[in-house]
Amino acid sequence: MDFQRMIRLLTIITALAFLLSACATVPLTGRKQLSLIPDSQMNTMSFQQYDQVLAESTLSTNAAETAMIKRVGARIQQSVEEYLAATGNSDHINGYAWDFNLIESNQINAWCMPGGKVAFYTGILPVCEDETGVAVVMGHEIAHAIAEHGSERMSHSMMVQMGGMALNEAIKNEPEETQALYMSAFAVGSQYGAMLPFSRQHESEADHMGLVFMAMAGYDPQQAPVFWQRMASLGGEKPPEFMSTHPADETRVRQLNEWMPEALKYYQAER
Ligand SMILES: [Zn+2]
Repeated sequence: MDFQRMIRLLTIITALAFLLSACATVPLTGRKQLSLIPDSQMNTMSFQQYDQVLAESTLSTNAAETAMIKRVGARIQQSVEEYLAATGNSDHINGYAWDFNLIESNQINAWCMPGGKVAFYTGILPVCEDETGVAVVMGHEIAHAIAEHGSERMSHSMMVQMGGMALNEAIKNEPEETQALYMSAFAVGSQYGAMLPFSRQHESEADHMGLVFMAMAGYDPQQAPVFWQRMASLGGEKPPEFMSTHPADETRVRQLNEWMPEALKYYQAER
C-alpha cells in the first residue's frame, strides 16, 4: 500500500470514529442524530441571543397573561425534568437556565432556544384561546429544544461548510464563524423574529414529544389536534415555524391522534 492510500484510509477511519462519537440520542423517541457542537457552546450562544432579543423587544404588561406563560412553562419544565430523571437522562439538560417571557407583538409566534429560553408573542394568544392551548405550543417548542433540533441542523451545515475533521478546531479557533453558523441555523433576532422552519421530521418529532410533555404536565393532549386545526385555518401570515405546510395539516392531525393513546396514559396518571 502506498503512503497516499494509507493516509486516505487513516483519514476515513478517523472521520468514521469521529462521527460515531458525534451522535446523540433524542429523549423519548430514541432517534439517533448528528451532534457536533457541545451543548455548552450552544447554550452560550443561545443565552446571548436571548438577552439580545429581550433587550430589543417590549415585554407584555398584561400581568395575568405573563403569569400564565410562566406557569405553563414551569409545569412543562418540571415534567420534562421528571421524565429525564426517571429515564436516567438528567444530564441531557445540564446547563439549562429556563426562562419564559411574553413579548408584546402581534406576530403569531413562539420559540424555545437551546438551554430552555422561551419566548411567546402576544399575537399567538388568541390562537391558543386558553391555558391548554398555550400548553400545546409550549410543549411543542420545548420539545424542539430538548430534541436539540437547532444543534442538529447546525451540525449538518458545519459538516458542509467546514468539513468533519476540522470541527473541534473550528469551535475553538473560529468563534465568529461558529456564531455565524448559529445565526444561520436559528435566524432568531429582533428583525427576523422567528426561527427558520424546521424540517418535516423535526416538526413531527416536536409534535410527538410536545404532546407527551403537555400530558405529563396535566394538560389535556386531546386539545393539541384542535389547536393545530385552528392554526391551519388561519392561512398565511404566520412565521415559518407555524406555516401550515410543515407538516401538512392532515398529516399532523393524523399523527397526533396516533400518539394520543401514549399521551393519554400520562395525562390520566396525572389526575
Ligand atoms: Zn415546530
